[in-house]
Amino acid sequence: MTNALITGANKGIGFAVAGQLGRSGVKVLVGARDAEKGDEAVKILRAQRIDAEAVEIDVTDPAGVRAAAARVREEHGHLDVLVNNAGVLPEVTAAERVTGPMDLEMFRTTFETNVFGTIAVTEAFLPLLRAAPAGRIVNVSSTMGSLADQTDPDSVYYGQVVPAYQTSKVALNAITVALSKALAETEIKVNSVCPGWVQTDLGGPENKAAAPMTPDQGAAVVTRMALIAGDGPTGGFFDQDGPVRW
Ligand code: NDP
Repeated sequence: MTNALITGANKGIGFAVAGQLGRSGVKVLVGARDAEKGDEAVKILRAQRIDAEAVEIDVTDPAGVRAAAARVREEHGHLDVLVNNAGVLPEVTAAERVTGPMDLEMFRTTFETNVFGTIAVTEAFLPLLRAAPAGRIVNVSSTMGSLADQTDPDSVYYGQVVPAYQTSKVALNAITVALSKALAETEIKVNSVCPGWVQTDLGGPENKAAAPMTPDQGAAVVTRMALIAGDGPTGGFFDQDGPVRW
């Protein structure tokens, strides 16, 4: 049976992706840094007859990430799909701590999860993805990380300025490109996805109230890229409408 690990799957877009993948017959490994929240999410998914199990994983804890990979290897032997979804936007949720546009600590905090966390998880789980017949990696990025949109006055994203978050998603997109090239000779496909502006806790209560899309709507493109066929793209950036400019 196909299996998938989704980081940060106890709520928001990650939880919705877990539900969608589960409903399409995938065994979902529900990544959560808080074991209790992971168990709670699994309970809800199982009540919907989804084959789910919790995996405790804080993406900022490399030793813990390696231990999680060892457990998944022991229990499942391989991983078909990795969704690097865990992400933070502390420039908004901890705005009182922001000292200015070039706040080193804010960059470090944001990169720790959005960039280094993704690298740590991908490094640890890559051997399991190689052990699968056709591994898929989906990096949950954002059009906030599209330099083309950030520099286009006609883009709705032009006026948004959250430097640490935007830079972290640019870096994440660069990881997608580099990793897809490094894995070009394998069956593994790596893509970045923007879920759209979604009603989650990420940007704080005001953003949640203003966002037009539900977590299920945002998750749809993530799920689609997690399940792409062998003739699908790799090294690309997509949202619900198709390719996104880098
Ligand atoms: P939420 O805040 O609802 O969910 C974020 C998830 O990431 C939570 O499960 C959270 O866990 C988890 N997480 C945070 N830090 C860590 C960590 N160190 N280790 C493991 N898990 C962690 O936000 P979203 O669902 O909106 O965000 C999911 C992804 O979607 C992010 O990468 C975000 O950048 C991206 N995105 C979101 C958009 C939106 O409009 N919402 C738009 C574009 C992209 P916990 O519950 O413990 O905090």
